Amino acid sequence: MIELGTQSDIKLINEEGLRNDGRKFNELRPIRIEVGVLNRADGSAYIEWGGNKVLVAVYGPREAFPKHTQNPSRAIINARYNMAAFSVDERKRPGPDRRAIEISKVISEALEVAVFTEQFPRTSIDVYIEVLQADAGTRIAGLTAASVALVDAGIPMKDMVVGCAAGKIDGKVVLDLNKEEDNFGQADLPMAIIPRTDEIVLLQMDGNFSREELEQAVELSKKAATYISNLQREALMAKYKSQESEKEGERSE
Ligand code: UDP
Repeated sequence: MIELGTQSDIKLINEEGLRNDGRKFNELRPIRIEVGVLNRADGSAYIEWGGNKVLVAVYGPREAFPKHTQNPSRAIINARYNMAAFSVDERKRPGPDRRAIEISKVISEALEVAVFTEQFPRTSIDVYIEVLQADAGTRIAGLTAASVALVDAGIPMKDMVVGCAAGKIDGKVVLDLNKEEDNFGQADLPMAIIPRTDEIVLLQMDGNFSREELEQAVELSKKAATYISNLQREALMAKYKSQESEKEGERSE
């Protein structure tokens, strides 16, 4: 019989202080963001974050239906987080479960702080977050891509929301847990911030941190958020630059 590992017997940090994928305690997994990947959505983005692959489509602002959901003074943000059946090792049963409903709610609330919703009364802004491949940290990857897709849809915001997570493995606080670290670590702290105003708009915790560890985790994620925020901007710039060069090409033909 194969013995499954437990928290105490799986070592996640080696003698050199490196993690199971070779990262240092304060290193992110590789992140790649692409903007405008879907023609029929008002805005869209695709993100690869380590082993996560997430696609986001934004529609709106459009008249909210059913009518009783309309808010006469502002837009409502409907984020819908969904995991594809093939996104995880064990087939995920299709359709929303408690986890997806919770994640959709916290992402909607985080985005609501950033978007100038009062400019679009009675409308809804629908944000579809489709997780194609999951490897821990999908909610923050989805939220990070959703912000970019909102900009792509031309929706005015204070700033883009940036998601990041830190956790605890082998008793050490580290940045951005992967799946194995998430499974066998002691804590995970996904959070999201608006860099321009320094507001924390999502903060969840799984497991236990001391007060000091919690502060370290928040600090690690905040530093990483500055870097991720630049990646969001670069992805948007890349889209507009390629559109410009396409137009130039057409003009010279
Ligand atoms: N996961 C899974 N099946 C599920 C839900 C989650 O295999 O039904 C995996 C998936 O890789 C996910 C990870 O567990 O990324 C961590 O899930 P969590 O609920 O902590 O959310 P996340 O870290 O993805 O935001």
